[in-house]
This record gives sequence, C-alpha cells and structure tokens, in this order.
Amino acid sequence: MRVLVTGGAGYIGSVIVARLTARGHDVVVYDDLSRGHAAAVPASVPLVRGDVRDTTAVRAALVEGGCEAVVHMAALAEVAESVAEPDRYFSVNVDGTAAVVEAAAAAGAGRLVFSSTAAVYGAPERTPIDERDTMAPANPYGETKLAGERLLRQARSRGALAATALRYFNASGAHGACGEDHDPETHLIPLALRAARDGLPIRVFGDDYPTPDGTCVRDYVHVADLADAHIAALEALPGVQGSFNLGTGTGDSVQAVLDAVEAVTGLRLLRETAARRAGDPPVLVASNWRAAAELGWRPRRSLTDAVADAWAWMREHPDGYTER
Ligand code: UDP
Repeated sequence: MRVLVTGGAGYIGSVIVARLTARGHDVVVYDDLSRGHAAAVPASVPLVRGDVRDTTAVRAALVEGGCEAVVHMAALAEVAESVAEPDRYFSVNVDGTAAVVEAAAAAGAGRLVFSSTAAVYGAPERTPIDERDTMAPANPYGETKLAGERLLRQARSRGALAATALRYFNASGAHGACGEDHDPETHLIPLALRAARDGLPIRVFGDDYPTPDGTCVRDYVHVADLADAHIAALEALPGVQGSFNLGTGTGDSVQAVLDAVEAVTGLRLLRETAARRAGDPPVLVASNWRAAAELGWRPRRSLTDAVADAWAWMREHPDGYTER
C-alpha cells in the first residue's frame, strides 16, 4: 500500500513510518516540522513540508505520491497548552482533520487511520475504560480529538472514506532511530530518565490519590505496539472500521514507573512530592478487548521494555534530535 503519514516526523508518526516501511509499504511523510524532526524521517522516505489545514497541498501530496491511504497524525497534543490556546488547537486539530478528510476523498485515497486519544473520555466512569463509555473530554485537546472522530464518522456515513480512530493511552518507549523528544518535555518517562542521568530530582505530581500507593496510575503502551496497531487498522479497512482503545489493559503508578527507571538505568532517583497537576484523573487504563477481537492487535512489550528502549535512545541521542 502507498500511505501518506501526516505528522510522520513526530514521536509516534516516525515509528509508524519505520514499521510501515519494514512491512513493505511505501510511505510519504507530510509534516510542517513545527513539532516533528526531519531527522526522524529516513532519507529514503519523501518528506513533504506543509500545513495540515492546506487541503490543496495535502491533496497534491496524495496524488503525487500515488497514495491509497492516510495515517493522520499531525496535531497539537499537549493538554496544558490546549487549555492556554484552545483556538489554535481547534484550528490545527479539527480544521486540519477536516482538510485531510476532504483531500483524501478528493484524491481517491479511501482509507484513513486517525490518531485519537484517551482524553476523549475525560474523567472515566469506570476502570478499565471501554469504547462504549461516556465521552466527556476534560480539556480542549480531548474536545478537538472527539471532534476529529466525529468528522470521520460523518465521512464514513456519506461514503467518502473508510476510517478508523485509535485512542492512545500513554505512548512510551522508543524504536530504533526514533525516540521521544518534545520541547518542552512534559512526559514522565523521558523526564525521569533525564533526572536519573543528570542526578536531578523528579517531581511526583500528587501522592494522595485514591490509588494503592497514592500516585496516578496510567496505561503505558509501547510506541512500537502503537505503530503496529495502525498497520493492523489500515490493513483491516474497509472491512473493519470504528474507534479502538490502544492500551495494555494494565496500569502502573508513577512510583512504579520510577522504580522501573531505577531498575533499567541502575541509577537512583531523587523523588520529590509536588502538587497534583490540574486535571489528572487518578486512574486511566484501557480495556483493549475490542482492538484484539476486531483488529487482531495485542501489545507485546512491557513497561520495562519501554523504559529500556527509551533509555537506549536517550544514551544514543543525549541532546535529542539535534537539527533544530
Ligand atoms: N507525572 C509526574 N511527574 C512528572 C511528569 C508526569 O508525576 O514530572 C505524572 C503525571 O501527573 C501523570 C503521569 O505522571 O499522572 C503520566 O504523565 P504524562 O505527562 O507522562 O502523561 P499523561 O498521563 O498526562 O498523558
């Protein structure tokens, strides 16, 4: 299959590109490089630089690349930033998805896989979270992704596209030459690895949650497992469409993640309790039976694998991607 990956220079997108290529698919990346890194895209993969809201440019990239399918990853994805700049989030994430849907339909690229998020659920009504549970996003980021899923549903119902949305829980780890390098970095695992390496403290945001050790529990799913779910979803279209949780089905507390960081690095962490971060629910764990049953997807890698792979990447790239 020839596939356009929007946001293919980003953390998860670049791993999807690597896995698609390894499976023999032809890939074109479309990215504005505002968050992604050109160095994350292999030299053999064409990189088209453009704005995801530019329907004409996305369509041209699809037609020139001879693409039959789109993996739409290009988005802004920081919760706190979305609260500060909701209009920007709606513009890039919702208008951007509308543009990609329109361009794909016009170019005859009839299969689309969309990057969604557990943030569509907001504070969950039960654990683990099932796809049929109430969707009540607690921030603009989650709202924009829910709006994106609705655009997909509309496109499906008017016969424009076959489409699937994948709701990620906590993406983690690294894969080969592709790793996690956000600016600023906000995610627990890279921050903890850096803290361990540099002998600096790591802040634990809240230790009085109603969880076994008092810290938040999350479902850390390895980025290579996430990437493989996109391939399964693409290859299952148009027969299987819908929205699927992508998580391991098990949760780990912040303390458990920090224990894993110490075990993998052999270094001690200085743990400092800090105030709760606004809007963090105590527990976010996916029910993943639906992705297993309908896409045949099962995560294969553990939290320790994710921490070990992230650590290996960080040691090979001590300054992250260095082109900026
Ligand atoms: N967290 C923390 N210290 C940090 C960064 C994150 O205690 O320096 C906690 C955060 O409150 C959450 C968990 O680690 O409970 C995972 O946070 P992350 O930002 O990695 O992902 P999120 O769950 O927000 O998508």
